[in-house]
Amino acid sequence: MPCDLHVHTSASDGTENPAEVVEKAGKAGLTALAVTDHDTIRGVAPALEAGREIGITVLPGVELAAEEEDGEVHLLGYLFDPHHPLLREELARLEKARLARVERMVEKIRALGIPLALERVLALAGEGTVGRPHVARALVEIGAVGSVAEAFARYLERHGPAYVPRLKMAPEEAVLLIRRAGGVAVLAHPGLSRCEELIPRLVSAGLQGLEVYHPEHTPQMVEHYRGLCRRYGLLATGGSDYHGAGHRRYSRLGEVTAPDEVVEKMLALAGRTA
Ligand SMILES: [Zn+2]
Ligand SMILES: [Zn+2]
Repeated sequence: MPCDLHVHTSASDGTENPAEVVEKAGKAGLTALAVTDHDTIRGVAPALEAGREIGITVLPGVELAAEEEDGEVHLLGYLFDPHHPLLREELARLEKARLARVERMVEKIRALGIPLALERVLALAGEGTVGRPHVARALVEIGAVGSVAEAFARYLERHGPAYVPRLKMAPEEAVLLIRRAGGVAVLAHPGLSRCEELIPRLVSAGLQGLEVYHPEHTPQMVEHYRGLCRRYGLLATGGSDYHGAGHRRYSRLGEVTAPDEVVEKMLALAGRTA
């Protein structure tokens, strides 16, 4: 029985709301689904409720962005206590920092003589978490650039004239936060982050799984990461990284899945039963 353990909703940068995504998962024949929005758990409660109505297991999840020297690393957290004070405090801090970052990027762009309106950037993000893609889209709208890709290349990439670094959380901190909140910590799509040397460090910090199955992973990568899971005693998880039917890359819910037993093992690690 297939489970999709990596799914975004409109609470972050997905295009469908949590209830819609859960309903779709039910129709697609998935038995379990984890809602893993970027740096927020606002989609978790509505997804859990929809799951109860439809009769599919929904796992509380989150995808935290952490910074390494040469780039970003994503950590997935599952089955934490959504009311845990430390987790809530940290997510609130990330949200504030995310907004401040976008404000500073808009200021930098305006200082370059481009009349970009912060209100428009925020409106484009809607109920989701605001970030660089919304700044890019707003720049396209006012004709400052021809495409989102050009907005990134000319202004928003690391070292670009309007780039502002994000609030830095070390990958170990993200693992600890998930564990303290009672969750299971998994390194997301290691094949995308190219952060192999990080794995032993994260295992010492309490990492419990690797996202072995992901749309961007080649069969060779899957084999390789399965080997690492055996070596370090980690769970092999997976999911589609679904962002909505219209997304350019991750548009197929359940495209990549993990077997049912992974959910049982996660529940056991989190000290819970289904
Ligand atoms: Zn990710
Ligand atoms: Zn993701």
